[in-house]
Amino acid sequence: MADEKVVVITGASSGIGEASAELLAKDGAKLVLGARRENLLKEISEKVEKLGGQAVYQSTDVTDDDQVESLAKLAIDKFGRIDVWINNAGIMPQSILSEKKIQDWNNMIDINIKGTLYGIGAAIPYMDKQKSGHIINVSSVAGHQAHQGSAVYSATKYAVRAISESLRQEMVDAKNNVRVTVVSPGAINTGLLSSVTDPQVKAGMEKFYEAYSIPVERVALTIKQAIDLPADAAWNEVVIRPTNQLG
Ligand code: NDP
Repeated sequence: MADEKVVVITGASSGIGEASAELLAKDGAKLVLGARRENLLKEISEKVEKLGGQAVYQSTDVTDDDQVESLAKLAIDKFGRIDVWINNAGIMPQSILSEKKIQDWNNMIDINIKGTLYGIGAAIPYMDKQKSGHIINVSSVAGHQAHQGSAVYSATKYAVRAISESLRQEMVDAKNNVRVTVVSPGAINTGLLSSVTDPQVKAGMEKFYEAYSIPVERVALTIKQAIDLPADAAWNEVVIRPTNQLG
């Protein structure tokens, strides 16, 4: 059970991060919430407390390693340990390569890849000392297959999977009992499409999401089930896709 576990979530101000915080709160989890929109984190923390959990939050931009380290320190200062760290913050401004949207490329690389690395770097020293822990990295079905328009987003999500498998093997070698899970969602009804900057791509994706997307609680449940597995076992890779989504 997520009961009493100290769980750090990046990108906790909406969507999958928010839904996971709320679901874990019902088990009494101690949540440490990071994202840039502090006003939303405050509201979610209040909801978490009402649901039976405890929560602290801090404005955190995952592209800044100092801020990510500071989020880890908040967890230690308030709750004394980090049992689960969920690298969930991400954006998806897809476009075709010939559009040369360099700012979008850089933002995806900085948030989706470097943000995940900084989260791992911040959490592992504490988990190593505890000789226990769980890193959950959010990839995507786009991290399993690329298509036109998804090049950089897919590359970042493939990278999350590569980083996760290396981490898993390194944790085995370190004998620190740290579990590693990659969760790869399909079309989930969140605010993610607001990060798409190309109007034509956005319109197409909105149509697709209207037809196929499933509620965000499905991913939250997947994350909770991964956490609830006995500590001697880990789901290393989970794809959670709408039943009717083809690709
Ligand atoms: P949302 O847009 O609802 O959530 C994204 C979260 O990331 C927000 O809380 C946002 O918070 C945070 N974020 C963005 N940039 C930064 C940053 N620089 N620093 C810290 N936090 C940041 O979308 P989802 O919940 O859907 O997305 C969560 C994850 O799920 C992402 O990694 C996404 O790629 C992945 N995913 C989602 C799918 C979907 O269909 N929804 C499918 C496959 C994967 P703030 O703006 O306050 O900083």
